[in-house]
Amino acid sequence: ADKRECDINEELANMVTLLSAQARGCSVHLEFSRGTVPRLVADPEKLRQAFLNLMLNAIQASPEGGTVQVATSYNRESGLVEIRIADQGGGIAADAISQIFEPFFTTKGSGTGLGLSITKKIVEGHGGSVEVASEPGRGATFTVLLPAAE
Ligand code: ADP
Ligand code: MG
Repeated sequence: ADKRECDINEELANMVTLLSAQARGCSVHLEFSRGTVPRLVADPEKLRQAFLNLMLNAIQASPEGGTVQVATSYNRESGLVEIRIADQGGGIAADAISQIFEPFFTTKGSGTGLGLSITKKIVEGHGGSVEVASEPGRGATFTVLLPAAE
C-alpha cells in the first residue's frame, strides 16, 4: 500500500539491532554485512515483517555459538538487490523444502507455519522473489531478490 523509496540497509541494520538481544539470549551471533546497494521502492513496514520472519527462523534454527549472517549486495546486470540470510542450523530436508512456503507448514511444536508464506507474499508484492538453498546439517540460506528503484 504505502510504497516509497527506502534504504534496505537502514531497515536491516535497525532490525539486527532490535534482534540482537534475542540472538544473544540464544548464544547466536547475528552479523550484518552491508553492501553498497541502490534504494528500493517498498512499503518499509511490510519489508520489515518479511525479513523479521526470515531472521527469527534463522535464529531459532541456530545451534549455540552459531552465526546468522545477513548480507546485502547489488547485481548491476539484473538490477536486483540481493538480501541473504544464512544460518548454521540443522538445515531443511529435501522433502520439506517444497512445502516450507505453504501456509501452515511447520516442523515446530508451537509454530504457526505462516511466516514464510507471508514473507513470500510480501516479497512477490514488491516484484521480487525468495529462494532457499539448504542441506540437512549444513544450514539454510534464504535469498531475497528485489528490484532497485529507477
Ligand atoms: P514456523 O516458523 O511457524 O514453523 P515458517 O513459515 O516461518 O513457520 O517456517 C516453516 C518451516 O520451514 C519451519 O517450521 C521449518 O521447518 C522450516 N524452516 C524455515 N526456516 C528455516 C531455517 N532457517 N532452518 C531450518 N528450517 C527452516
Ligand atoms: Mg517462522
